[in-house]
Amino acid sequence: MSNEQPKTAVKCGECGGPVNAPEEPKPTDEVSCQNCPNKATYQEMMDEAQAYLHDYAETRIDATFKEAAKNSDFIKYKSGPKSTRKYRFILDL
Ligand SMILES: [Zn+2]
Repeated sequence: MSNEQPKTAVKCGECGGPVNAPEEPKPTDEVSCQNCPNKATYQEMMDEAQAYLHDYAETRIDATFKEAAKNSDFIKYKSGPKSTRKYRFILDL
């Protein structure tokens, strides 16, 4: 693969627009969406993005297990409750 540092963009969870953040943000710095009034502190934004990533990963794993279970007589996979949470900030994955 490449040696590039992965840089995942945080996007607005309300409208999907780009987010303005300082170059070297502090947790208390304010970040805001360029397209809508959505804003938060950098810390809040990162917490939201983390939670979103966690949910995203869980959904992916869920799908993988389901696929495996489909072709097996002895694996019975039951997925857990889906999160229906809405995120104020999401990641461009
Ligand atoms: Zn927005």
